[in-house]
Amino acid sequence: MLSEFDLIAKYFTRPTPNATLGVGDDCALLTPTPGTQIAISSDMLVSGTHFFANAEPKLLGHKSLAVNLSDLAAMGAKPVAFTLALSLPKPDEPWLAAFADGLLSLADLYGCELIGGDTTRGPLNICITVFGEIPAGKALRRDAAKVGDDIWVSGALGEARLGLAGMRNELALDAATLSAAVMRLHQPMPRVALGIALRSVANAAIDVSDGLVGDLGHILARSGVGATLNVDALPVGPMLSEQPQEVRRRFALSGGDDYELCFTAPPSMRAAVLNAGNETGKAVTRVGTIEATHGLRLTDAGGVPLELHATSFDHFVAA
Ligand code: ADP
Ligand code: MG
Repeated sequence: MLSEFDLIAKYFTRPTPNATLGVGDDCALLTPTPGTQIAISSDMLVSGTHFFANAEPKLLGHKSLAVNLSDLAAMGAKPVAFTLALSLPKPDEPWLAAFADGLLSLADLYGCELIGGDTTRGPLNICITVFGEIPAGKALRRDAAKVGDDIWVSGALGEARLGLAGMRNELALDAATLSAAVMRLHQPMPRVALGIALRSVANAAIDVSDGLVGDLGHILARSGVGATLNVDALPVGPMLSEQPQEVRRRFALSGGDDYELCFTAPPSMRAAVLNAGNETGKAVTRVGTIEATHGLRLTDAGGVPLELHATSFDHFVAA
């Protein structure tokens, strides 16, 4: 059977042209670019809580890193390196090969080097810590939204939730929609280029992992402000637009796992925001306004208030 050290050497030791020292010593060494701050984030994926034990290992490898890179994107940070702490029931080589393939393909796409980690026997558990760089003072923080800012979201919302609904037979989807929506759920793409393009444009940002209402709520709480959202302006994309209004609104407002960016920027930056979207090939949509009055208010396209509880609770998405 593969030993711990053979396993690390075979699957998780790779050239690290940027890091000063990668896998193999007591610590890895990174040399920050002068004038930058290091953005650091960890996300843990636990079998039975975040994924099923029989989940496709290649997709699991991708998603484990994608959710971490999404946190860097939400700060406007450029990915540099990551560590992988892995607990495994047994050294299953086909599983490891597929997991490493999904993980390292995404890492290569963003030039994010695997520089170290820890490997142990135990229930399947994947914990990644990412390191990113950002020019000092340029991070897009949750506490920086200003009264009068526009609220924007990237891409389309609710598609990962649509995939979940299809998998659980909550909704009947045609085969093409089902497979596309399930890919949004299993293979999210972090909005790294957009986050970087928004550095001197946006005030505050967050990635939409738990649903827009909850995630925007973090910006509001940290910034000490409130907001109004135009629910009919939320970008839902062609897959979700075929669904009834109630489903569209509920999934766009509270479906998780899309990993789009929600950010705020002053109205004077509208052209710059659209330009950042164009340059990075990501649609950006203006969906609301930051206000002094605390709380989140929802309206339809005509400005008529909507009841928050009628649209935001999503009983199917538990934890
Ligand atoms: P230590 O005993 O000092 O914690 P380990 O024996 O756990 O060291 O790890 C040996 C080397 O392999 C270290 O450089 C560590 O960062 C790296 N490593 C361990 N597990 C992984 C992994 N899953 N992915 C990448 N590197 C790993
Ligand atoms: Mg160790």
